[in-house]
Amino acid sequence: MSLALARKYRPRRFADVAVQTHVATTLRSAIEHDRVAQAYLFCGPRGTGKTTLARVLAMALNCEKRRKDREPCGKCLSCERIWAGSTSLDVVEIDAASNRGVDDARDLRERAMYAPTGDDRYKVYIIDEAHMLTKEAWNALLKIIEEPPPRVVFVFATTEPQRIANAAAPIFSRVQRFDLRRMSPADVRERLAIVLESEKVTAEPEALAMLARAADGSMRDALSLTDQVLSLGTGAVTEALVRETLGLVHDDEILALLSIVAERRAADVFTEVARLADQGADFALMLAGVTDALRGELAIALGGTVSDLSERTRKALVEAKGRFSPGDVLRMLNMAVELEPHFKRSGQQQLLFETLLVRFALLDRTMDLEAVLRGLPTGGHDSGGPIAPSRERAEPPGSSAESPSQRAIPPAPEAKPASKPASKPASKPASKPASKPASTPASTPASKRARPPESAAGSGSDRPRLRDSGRVSEAVTPAPIADAPIVPLAAQPLDINRLAARWDDVVEAVRLAGRGVVASSLAESTPTAVSNGVVTVQVASETLASAIDNGTDAVLAALRTLFTGVQQVVTARPEGVPAAPMKRMTETEVIANRVATLRKGAPLLDAAFDALDLRLID
Ligand SMILES: [Zn+2]
Repeated sequence: MSLALARKYRPRRFADVAVQTHVATTLRSAIEHDRVAQAYLFCGPRGTGKTTLARVLAMALNCEKRRKDREPCGKCLSCERIWAGSTSLDVVEIDAASNRGVDDARDLRERAMYAPTGDDRYKVYIIDEAHMLTKEAWNALLKIIEEPPPRVVFVFATTEPQRIANAAAPIFSRVQRFDLRRMSPADVRERLAIVLESEKVTAEPEALAMLARAADGSMRDALSLTDQVLSLGTGAVTEALVRETLGLVHDDEILALLSIVAERRAADVFTEVARLADQGADFALMLAGVTDALRGELAIALGGTVSDLSERTRKALVEAKGRFSPGDVLRMLNMAVELEPHFKRSGQQQLLFETLLVRFALLDRTMDLEAVLRGLPTGGHDSGGPIAPSRERAEPPGSSAESPSQRAIPPAPEAKPASKPASKPASKPASKPASKPASTPASTPASKRARPPESAAGSGSDRPRLRDSGRVSEAVTPAPIADAPIVPLAAQPLDINRLAARWDDVVEAVRLAGRGVVASSLAESTPTAVSNGVVTVQVASETLASAIDNGTDAVLAALRTLFTGVQQVVTARPEGVPAAPMKRMTETEVIANRVATLRKGAPLLDAAFDALDLRLID
């Protein structure tokens, strides 16, 4: 196999174009019925086949052996040259990243004025990375697109149509736009299997699934990765080889981490993560692995299936079914997903990963709350309707002697209808965290809202007021009503475990207070100690430290809405921030290769991505 797979299997006919069949069919039919547009815009993520489709279109328009169905023959000299991207008088490929200026556009315009080399041929201009063209360049092009010479077709390809809309909105009314679909792992896997079968290479299904996941929607990447695996020379695509090539973490490591979380062995997180760091683990891949496993965990808990998981992982998760409630898995997934954007850019991936796992391990479990609620009577005398807080149901008159823990109530949103009479709390700072569930339910778990014992003890007196104001004379006293629903939901005595478990809420409260920078800095940091009301926040960099130091007023205010006894907040930069292991991780070959591939041959694009922090990874 001397020819790289990605090249060898690049489609030569519309029928071979994987996934984008809607576009391929439309284009073929347009040629068949002589309704070819003057300009096309192909939008879609990288690796979805924009350039390939453009070339197949050019081949079909210029094929020397015109077939009735207007598929290109793929073999004639014209087809061969266009397919290979070699120079051709009639088909010109332009990389807008390096030819983005008005002069280039004028040049293009002049060249387009010349007729194609033969009466039955078309001139096709394929402009890649079209979003890189300047506004002036678009203006120069617009004229020719508005009144194009006969048999000239422009194909613009872009990953970012929005940028074209910003620079040259009128172009959109002059082009026929196609949005190319991102390939799913299943699409990629399917196509890989076909390719390897025709190469007579045996492949383990799990190996294909891993390659497909790593390719992240790009068939080209999937085939290049497969080439890398095959270059190891064993002639087969096995799970072990793929893992070695991609530097993937073994599933068992991920499963071991989830067990630590499930068993709440928070302290073991540190040793385990340190061990993985010693082995040169790539924490971005670890995070992806944990997220995938959690998705599997959720699907299995809900009785569904996940096709992306390895058989081993799936079996292990099925065996462990029930250790997390679906609600908890959702919360963990949410935390992992929220972390992801920071994670990729962070130089402190080990710390962030470690912190995430510790937070998982310290999560208040929904299960616990559910267990408590199950033990409660479900009063049939309840008049509160389906959303009545169970606290009401749970407290028939005269039951005030029950233990504080039995007073745990469901999430705030359910409790709200009952507290309607008290409109005042909405304006209090303490109500901010409580308002969060409305927008991000998954991040504010039900169990966090369980009433702490000390406040529950005081809630005995407000109970009848909430439900039946006629029963107790206190009902007419307005002041306590206002405070009652808020205080119990909020302030708990400050404690490191509670603080760690509610760190998200602290971050959110700071964000809601309009201190976005402070909030995101907190999100990347970890509370590590509480002593005499002094909260120590471990930060990963000076930047984070100073952001938090400058926002201590906001942090304190947020902390005080959630905890009692907060005195001070200090930041601590860990001694010897582990620079060495970090370095090793970020230099993982796979990542480096991938980035290099992504940016290959487009220095301007490369610079633009850096400067604008664009969605390259996506
Ligand atoms: Zn041909």
